[in-house]
Amino acid sequence: MFAEKFEYHAPASLQEAASLLGQHGEDAKIVTGGMSLIPLMKLRLAAPSHLIDLRKLNDLKGVSESGGKIVIGARTTYSELAGNALLRSKCPLVCQAAAEVGDVQVRNRGTIGGSLVHADPAADLPAAAMALDAELSLGGRQSRTVKVADFIVDALSTSIAADEILVSVSVPATGPKTCYLKMAQHASGFALVGVAVVLDMEGNTCRGARIGVTGVSAKAFRAATVEQALAGKALDAGTIKAAAEQIAADIRDPLEDPLNGSAAYRAQLAKVYTARAVQGALAA
Ligand SMILES: Cc1cc2nc3c(=O)[nH]c(=O)nc-3n(C[C@H](O)[C@H](O)[C@H](O)COP(=O)(O)OP(=O)(O)OC[C@H]3O[C@@H](n4cnc5c(N)ncnc54)[C@H](O)[C@@H]3O)c2cc1C
Repeated sequence: MFAEKFEYHAPASLQEAASLLGQHGEDAKIVTGGMSLIPLMKLRLAAPSHLIDLRKLNDLKGVSESGGKIVIGARTTYSELAGNALLRSKCPLVCQAAAEVGDVQVRNRGTIGGSLVHADPAADLPAAAMALDAELSLGGRQSRTVKVADFIVDALSTSIAADEILVSVSVPATGPKTCYLKMAQHASGFALVGVAVVLDMEGNTCRGARIGVTGVSAKAFRAATVEQALAGKALDAGTIKAAAEQIAADIRDPLEDPLNGSAAYRAQLAKVYTARAVQGALAA
């Protein structure tokens, strides 16, 4: 099916993009990779009459270090994230999650900003962003920052206002002990479960763990109960399995999708993949 007719804009600055959003309000949509928005438009589930393409905004692309944080431009594609040297050395979890998205075409077009604003409950980057406690910078007519946990409010729903643009995503530097592990739905690549882990280790003792989970609930979440069960423990197969078993306590609004995987199936996968992802981070 073809999309409804729309007017195409390619502003040359953030200010121009914001002014177009202000002018056209709810009739306008930002497009970056188009990997989620264009299929929705072709299915007529979205019909913006103005499409604002950020392709000329090169300031929204790339990875840099600032004030002890790693700042990722919202237009940076998954392929660029997966291969980025700074991220590989200082925050490898982002590379690991980006490398698991869809297929090569999707990774070459789709962006971290599009992923976080679209907030698909089975998307990969939200799990990594949750584990990293990422901070999002929004621009447009006004600027503000927001933690990812406060930004994603529900399935396909965020706190972004109609006239706001996601500019960048800040993540902390971590050690090398990170892992993103996912069981993908074979046709789409989307996560039936995806688990992102950051471990802070002193010898064999876990000083702290941060775990983000996707595919299981209406939105990505932190597995706080599992994190607490790991903290302060010497990690071995038994402790890791016992901690991962507790993930049921962290699952709210379970995804009930019998065609691709029931809530009970996803909850069971979450236990298994959490244990494997912690093992993976430990071995990294
Ligand atoms: C075949 C296929 C397989 C896929 N498999 C996976 C998968 O395995 N894992 C996964 O995580 N995802 C998967 N995806 C989705 C993909 O990751 C998309 O790239 C992502 O959901 C949206 O990113 P985008 O840059 O394409 O955004 P777009 O489609 O351009 O936009 C998505 C939404 O975000 C808004 N938006 C985008 N950028 C900004 C911004 N900077 N500021 C404000 N609003 C913005 C748009 O207005 C729109 O509402 C798949 C998609 C396809 C088509």
